Amino acid sequence: MEAWLSCGADAQHCRELKVKPRATDGHTFLSRSTHALGAERNPLVRIGIISDIHSNIHALDTVLDELRRVDQVICLGDIVGYGAHPNECIDKMKDLRIPCVLGNHDAACIGLLSLGWFNPYAANAVRWAMEEELTKDSLDYLRSLPTSRRIEPFYIVHGSPREPTTEYLTDASQARASFDLCKEQVVFVGHTHVPLVFIDRGRAEEMVPSEGRRVSYEDVRLIYNPGAVGQPRDGDPRAAYSIVDTSSHTIEQHRVEYDVQEARADIIEAGLPRILGDRLTLGC
Ligand code: ZN
Repeated sequence: MEAWLSCGADAQHCRELKVKPRATDGHTFLSRSTHALGAERNPLVRIGIISDIHSNIHALDTVLDELRRVDQVICLGDIVGYGAHPNECIDKMKDLRIPCVLGNHDAACIGLLSLGWFNPYAANAVRWAMEEELTKDSLDYLRSLPTSRRIEPFYIVHGSPREPTTEYLTDASQARASFDLCKEQVVFVGHTHVPLVFIDRGRAEEMVPSEGRRVSYEDVRLIYNPGAVGQPRDGDPRAAYSIVDTSSHTIEQHRVEYDVQEARADIIEAGLPRILGDRLTLGC
């Protein structure tokens, strides 16, 4: 029996996401029918939200292992950039049929965003990935990514509803504008690499979702940033992600340690700027 991922993207993209359930890597989330969240048959109850992988396969594998029992994983973009394993991270998204949106580093690698947009270290890593590392299949995959997805009752972007690939959503006035641009109960964003929640109470209230904290979206709209898997910037080097529970309408924040030193060593061995490895050990 085939299952469709409810992605809200165009028909062509949904055709590409048609999947046959199968067991891989011990992950169980592919074996569920995914017509829509909350559908009567096989509803998606637990959904892992990941963002900003940044070619860090060590962090990604650790997080996906933590998420092996959820019903679905969704990625908010920036699979590539900064780190040493862009193809491996893309292959993981493809193999596990993880719905994903385009991030700014992903966009730069396929020529949709100028390298002038980035700091020199980030630009160096993008150039290395696009000129030396990414395979044709990986580039084709990045070209297939939409800039936003509607997976009811969620709206998925990398940056913000106003500028899906590039806007950093960091303050309440930006959040207010974003709430006004869409109607979904929860907007998931990444891009800043810092976990942060905006709550729609007329004006947008800001809250830091600490580890283990559950935030309810039952009676209130949220903009939720789970932080980064592959390059956290909140002073905590552990990989960040969140888990949605659609039965209780809550989102729980998580952190997990991974082999940061391996990720750092791989960056240096690839000839990428040493600072990109060093910053992983500091979470900045
Ligand atoms: Zn990023």
